[in-house]
Amino acid sequence: MLPAPFEYHAPHTTEETLELLDQLGDEGKVLAGGQSLIPLLKLRFASPAHLVDVNRVPGLDVIEERDGVLRIGALFRHKAAERSTMLASRYPVIAEAAGQVADPIVRNRGTVGGSLAHADPAGDWGSVMLALDAEFVLQSKSGRRSVKARDFFSGPFSTALQPNELLTEIRIPAAQGRTGGAYLKLERKVGDFATVAVAVHLQMDDGKVRSAGIGLTAVGAQNLKAEQAEAALRGRPLDDAAINEAAELAAAAAEPKADQRGSEAYKRNVVRVFTQRGLRRARERARGGA
Ligand SMILES: Cc1cc2nc3c(=O)[nH]c(=O)nc-3n(C[C@H](O)[C@H](O)[C@H](O)COP(=O)(O)OP(=O)(O)OC[C@H]3O[C@@H](n4cnc5c(N)ncnc54)[C@H](O)[C@@H]3O)c2cc1C
Repeated sequence: MLPAPFEYHAPHTTEETLELLDQLGDEGKVLAGGQSLIPLLKLRFASPAHLVDVNRVPGLDVIEERDGVLRIGALFRHKAAERSTMLASRYPVIAEAAGQVADPIVRNRGTVGGSLAHADPAGDWGSVMLALDAEFVLQSKSGRRSVKARDFFSGPFSTALQPNELLTEIRIPAAQGRTGGAYLKLERKVGDFATVAVAVHLQMDDGKVRSAGIGLTAVGAQNLKAEQAEAALRGRPLDDAAINEAAELAAAAAEPKADQRGSEAYKRNVVRVFTQRGLRRARERARGGA
């Protein structure tokens, strides 16, 4: 099917974009990589009167680690995240997730910010950002605000973003000391959305967990942060007892629904097993291993 008619705008600056979004309100939609929006338009699940293409706006695809913060521009593409050697060495959860998002064609165009704004509960980036305790910078004509990842998602395909706001960047506390991470994803075939996935990010200090982040994909109405599991690890050596306890708590935090991909019990068990494996893999990486 063809999309319903729309007017196309291609601003060249952030200010121009924000002005347009302000004027258009509910009638306007941001177009980033188009990998989720264009299918929705073609299926006529969405028919905005105006599309605001942000691909010509400079500076939205930055990646920079400075003053204790990793900044990722909203237009940073999945493929760029997959290829970044800095991300692979310092934020393995990001690099490992990037290589498992969709297929190479989608990864070439799709953006991290577009994924987060789309807020598919089976999307990979939301869990990664929850594990990393990220915050999102939302800009409108009247100013900017920061929203923690845990407060950003409000349900399936629902976020704190207002129609006149642009997600401009993701801010992540910079990795300090011994850090490790992992992203484990169960998919029916390569390129598929997750049946279940788990994101883990660890900061170790003197053999003990300084902080742990655990995000869950496709087991709830939105990406979930397993906060009790994270808290159970803090300040402890990451031994089998700690790993097993955290894995049980992560499984308990999951809210899976049975479907053609598996029963509720099966998905919950995958969360448990992936949390164990993810913590072990992250621990190895924090020690300087694989
Ligand atoms: C075949 C296929 C397989 C896929 N598999 C996966 C998968 O395994 N895992 C996964 O996570 N995703 C998957 N996706 C989705 C893909 O990752 C998309 O790239 C992503 O969801 C949207 O990013 P985009 O840049 O393409 O955004 P767009 O499609 O351009 O936009 C998506 C939505 O976000 C809004 N938006 C975009 N950018 C901004 C911004 N900066 N500020 C405010 N609003 C914004 C748009 O208005 C729109 O509502 C798949 C998609 C396809 C087509």
